[in-house]
Amino acid sequence: MQDKINQFAVIPISYDDSLLDNREKIVMEKLYRASKVIDEIFLNQVFDRNQEIRDSLRQLKDDHSKLHYDYFTIMFGPFDRLDQNKPFIGQITKPLGANFYPSDISKEEFENWLVQNPGDKQRFTSEFTVIRREGEKLIAIPYSEFYRNQLDLITRWLLDAAEYTDNPSLKKYLQTRAAAFSTNDYYESDLAWMDLRDNKIELVIGPYEVYEDELFNYKASFESFVTIKDSQESAQLEHLAAFLPDIEKNLPLADTDKSYSRGQESPIVVVQLVFSAGDAKAGVQTLAFNLPNDERVRQLKGSKKVMLKNMHEAKFKALLYPIARIVMDPSQLPAVTFDAFFKHTLMHEISHGVGPGFIERNGHKSEVKKELKETYSRIEECKADVLGMYNLSYLIDKGVYPSALSEQMYSTFLAGVFRSVRFGINEAHGAGTAIIYNYLLEKGAYVYDPQTLKVKVNFNRIGQAIHDLAAELLTIEARGDYQGACDFIQQYAVRSASLEKLCAELTHLPVDIRPVFEIEKKYTEK
Ligand code: ZN
Repeated sequence: MQDKINQFAVIPISYDDSLLDNREKIVMEKLYRASKVIDEIFLNQVFDRNQEIRDSLRQLKDDHSKLHYDYFTIMFGPFDRLDQNKPFIGQITKPLGANFYPSDISKEEFENWLVQNPGDKQRFTSEFTVIRREGEKLIAIPYSEFYRNQLDLITRWLLDAAEYTDNPSLKKYLQTRAAAFSTNDYYESDLAWMDLRDNKIELVIGPYEVYEDELFNYKASFESFVTIKDSQESAQLEHLAAFLPDIEKNLPLADTDKSYSRGQESPIVVVQLVFSAGDAKAGVQTLAFNLPNDERVRQLKGSKKVMLKNMHEAKFKALLYPIARIVMDPSQLPAVTFDAFFKHTLMHEISHGVGPGFIERNGHKSEVKKELKETYSRIEECKADVLGMYNLSYLIDKGVYPSALSEQMYSTFLAGVFRSVRFGINEAHGAGTAIIYNYLLEKGAYVYDPQTLKVKVNFNRIGQAIHDLAAELLTIEARGDYQGACDFIQQYAVRSASLEKLCAELTHLPVDIRPVFEIEKKYTEK
């Protein structure tokens, strides 16, 4: 159990109180208290016996039970999210439908019910209902009824916070979201969230992602992110938007394949996380999120990408830098920096929006995504990483960033390859970085020394190699070349000998972080 807990490096997450005026500090406290209730709802959503298990663990004072309680808190239940949800307390396996459905229900029973009761379909498949048995029948209970007591508490905190909020757009979000908890209709408040303007406090609270429901991916889990906007980073991003046409023009791609109409598909906001709750906090920590999920809202207003800068910094310090210390040639270790890591991450996100999107294939309109099918996410993640470096390099040439960033970004990315690949190369990001590593190694832009077991960047070769790799990937996308994508992945998305060898050196390192929120310490009642 201690080994399991050690997989998570404990990291304090603090925030800069001085950014807030007195009224905003009050708002912050109320949003924190609302979010604490979200933790309780989500705990219930995961497993019907969770409260009972937690209460009994709390009463036991021996070391063994304390460790169990600790891991239970990280996982929001007795199931190990890092090990296929295997139980670490008791023998019960986690129901696929978590606590959104009766624990003994099968897919077939649910589907048969809908065949026999077609009028139930909308309510039963809604993201915002819980399915229960009533005698022989199945019934759908709206979240607004099922979690009534907790939602009443949250509503009170949100309306209280709205009283102290001077920013009209935030006030509107708080009020409409509070109303949604009674009506079970989140549409208007999702629109209000997209309309947040000039707000220092950025908050999202409610039921969003559906991954906890592994039975059907229908039911949304409650979560919350309480954050403060990073005004400096946000201003920089606005500054970068002006360079987008030049960035597109500079791509190593035939002019006819360039697209200048994509714009920025989802605006990026950089924030400092103050507190997260529920689904957002369980197991592996989120670095960024893109919401809302309601397609009607996305059609009308797009979506918004929120990046948690201090969580990136925490993961850099606790996970990436220790990896760099093991794998990087000591001469390049000083070039592994958080600044380079975060700038590349931002440029990765921006780069998703440049290059081919809609394309022409055999005379009719299509999309890169459709043509590349199951290879798309691996090629696209790889492209975003490569263009992240390629475009930063361009902006360095233009004088937007200092030239010192160049070596830092290349070295930092190389160290980061090993962090991604640890999660497996079947997943899109892991595959993408494996492609880059193997390609650049082949071109002599990365150098592996089998004597010292260290890697380094060859700065004389890396620029050209990144250019060539970008050209390969962009051409596959522009042509909608499915076979080309398959071949490229087969050749390069592999655990090559040096990748395998170096990953084996890392098995003792933590795989994620466990945030300890300063605000929680501040307001925990004695
Ligand atoms: Zn990406």
